[in-house]
Amino acid sequence: MRLLVDYHMHTPLCRHAVGHPREYAAQAVALGFSEIGYSDHSPMARDDFDDWRMRADQLDTYVAMVEETRREFPQLTIRLAMEVDYLPGQEEWIGDLSRRHRWDYLIGAVHYVSDSWDIDNPYKLSQWRERDHWEVWSIYFERLTAAAKSGLFDIIAHADLPKKFGFIPKRDLTPLFQPFVDAAASNGVAVEINTAGLRKECRELYPGPSLLKMAAQAGVGLTFGSDAHAPAEVGINFKEALKAAYAAGFKEYCRFDQRQRITTPIPF
Ligand code: ZN
Ligand code: FE
Ligand code: FE
Ligand code: ZN
Repeated sequence: MRLLVDYHMHTPLCRHAVGHPREYAAQAVALGFSEIGYSDHSPMARDDFDDWRMRADQLDTYVAMVEETRREFPQLTIRLAMEVDYLPGQEEWIGDLSRRHRWDYLIGAVHYVSDSWDIDNPYKLSQWRERDHWEVWSIYFERLTAAAKSGLFDIIAHADLPKKFGFIPKRDLTPLFQPFVDAAASNGVAVEINTAGLRKECRELYPGPSLLKMAAQAGVGLTFGSDAHAPAEVGINFKEALKAAYAAGFKEYCRFDQRQRITTPIPF
């Protein structure tokens, strides 16, 4: 446990998380963590795109908050990162964001299967009831595969996010998973075990055991994240995450320093 790191944490700038970054850091120290990373929702090219992320003019504030927290917790390695929404056509904007600060890593996330539907948004549940679930999952994994191939990201977030509310097609999902896993492996992009899934209706880690095993077999890198939106969620359910990593066949996980990957043995 002690050597693990939590690489997925938010800040109030995204408008749906609570607690100053220093409270997340204090919780991490209390739990015995030696390394964490902030990965708040990055701004979109247009601030009116949605209402659950920082605005473009808050990017410097975000970085300043993380740097302030670094100064307050010299005993903790604190990484500067973002969770960046991948939508086709946004590559230039994302590339521009990546050059604005000295990020340690960027987590690529697909939440949108169209410009207007973020599939994990609880206010848009009715969409799920109107759409063919296989089709939604297919579009999602097409985008996730493109994100892995884009060269823009170090890590891919919550890889099977469409399962969040339990809308899972009753057929073999391997044909959707395999192209993504292959793309992640050949482009040196890691996946994360994200414990937020345990706190959602699906009651399962992201990704589930089958996708995680495919990733391990393909030699994809691994990170761990709580997706904390409150200080009390830091490092939550990491015991389960560790068990899942081990069961899938992972022996190592990845850390990042200014976008350079550091491979580290998983402590069992
Ligand atoms: Zn969030
Ligand atoms: Fe996300
Ligand atoms: Fe997140
Ligand atoms: Zn997330």
